[in-house]
Amino acid sequence: MTIPTKSSYVDGAFVELGNSLQILENRNPSNPGEVIERFERAGHELTEQAIAAARRAAPDWARSNPQLRADALDFIGNEILARREELAKLLAREEGKIVREALGEVDRAGRSFKFYAQEALRAEGEKYQSVRQDVGIDVFTQPMGVIGIIAPWNFPIAIPAWKIAPALCFGNTVVFKPAELVPSCAWALAEIISRAGLPAGVFNMLIGPGRSVGDSIIRSPDIDAISFTGSESTGRQIAQTAAQGMKKVQLEMGGKNPLIVLDDADLEQAVEVALSGSFYSTGQRCTASSRIIVTAGIHDRFVARLAERTRALTVGDALDVGTDIGPVVDDRQLEQNLTYVMIGKEQGATLVCGGERIENEAGAYFFTPALFTDVKPDMRIYREEIFGPVLAVLKVRDYAEAFAAAEDTAFGLSAGIVTRSLKDAEHFKRNSSAGMVMVNLPTAGVDYHVPFGGNGASSLGSREQGTHARQFFTRVKTTYQLA
Ligand code: NAD
Repeated sequence: MTIPTKSSYVDGAFVELGNSLQILENRNPSNPGEVIERFERAGHELTEQAIAAARRAAPDWARSNPQLRADALDFIGNEILARREELAKLLAREEGKIVREALGEVDRAGRSFKFYAQEALRAEGEKYQSVRQDVGIDVFTQPMGVIGIIAPWNFPIAIPAWKIAPALCFGNTVVFKPAELVPSCAWALAEIISRAGLPAGVFNMLIGPGRSVGDSIIRSPDIDAISFTGSESTGRQIAQTAAQGMKKVQLEMGGKNPLIVLDDADLEQAVEVALSGSFYSTGQRCTASSRIIVTAGIHDRFVARLAERTRALTVGDALDVGTDIGPVVDDRQLEQNLTYVMIGKEQGATLVCGGERIENEAGAYFFTPALFTDVKPDMRIYREEIFGPVLAVLKVRDYAEAFAAAEDTAFGLSAGIVTRSLKDAEHFKRNSSAGMVMVNLPTAGVDYHVPFGGNGASSLGSREQGTHARQFFTRVKTTYQLA
């Protein structure tokens, strides 16, 4: 079977450069010998062409009929949902998310487009009476212009969707760069968008490395705003460059999300919440719980049951229906997980189970979920984002100590608590510095129609998703008129 070579989408067409030296092979982490598709990397010139096309298309798109935008977004959402099985399998093959979870991600992507199809038609604007006689004031929002969208690999279709959909909805044109590990879902999404009736240049997609294509996007004077999701270190670089160019930024970065388990928790519920939040999607979620803070009265029972459930998880091929935990995304991330397991042991934590590579003929990046106890708050496995299924359990005395431990981090994305105490749950909801707080639910797993984002080193700029996305994708205009 011949493997297709695909390319970037610029100014209304997929552009083949014919440069055989710049080929990216998309490999399956469940079977790294398998090349799913090949992609031609964009260079500086094509990046500039995409940005110029988006700039040219921006004025007309900003004035476009909202019904046109609504119909286009609806078309995209419908097609994603209609092709959910096929897209979920593609996602599982390129990223390693198991099919069940991949289906959830594809649905989320489709529904995000359909949500913003409705949002395009929402009446908005405010009228005020002036403090000056016979003067009327109108306040309304206008598109930002050209949006640079830079996405990570761990949600290959949902994150692009929840950025592209509001960008287009609010009248912006887009230059989108997916992560190099997941070009297939990005290409499939671009192909659907290419048939949605958008004028040429409104949407562009560039396949290529962050250090060249991504860097050109963030430096370009023709990009008005950047919506980025990825690591904290890349986010910091982007923030600095964007500040030089006076660009608006929205950065969603890492996390070290805590889950508190109190003595009064339902044990089975606590274990289920911990297991799902920490290990599902191979722990490769920015909202995954990687620190569990457990009070002394339930600690030993909780750890014993969590270890039992963790050992029973099946790690394997993302396409197999019996798999609970798919492979780690690539060899670099696998190496990172193994290194942190070594660091955890060296620093004196106890590895209760997992933390090993499962050797296999295909060379798949299978890694058993790791559970550490006897963790101290200064240990690296407790403080640093690992981005894998490596969990550090900290024992504390009571809720007050648990709360202080949960807050002891530079990050602030998601935080959870499992308790039957209304008082502690309410205190936690009100006082946690995280942007998203979960009570008796996993730290990972959020809705698509409400704000998403964090605080501290996890996020910068206004919230993504829901109606709040308007804040980033538009600017506010205030007009005064003498009657
Ligand atoms: P990454 O920072 O390595 O890459 C993210 C994107 O930035 C990629 O498209 C990459 O090509 C691009 N990039 C890299 N260097 C660049 C540069 N100098 N200029 C412009 N673009 C550049 O992150 P990753 O490894 O793809 O993703 C994992 C990280 O993403 C984790 O830290 C995770 O916590 C975070 N994440 C956060 C959220 C959130 O909403 N907070 C969601 C998902 C993932």
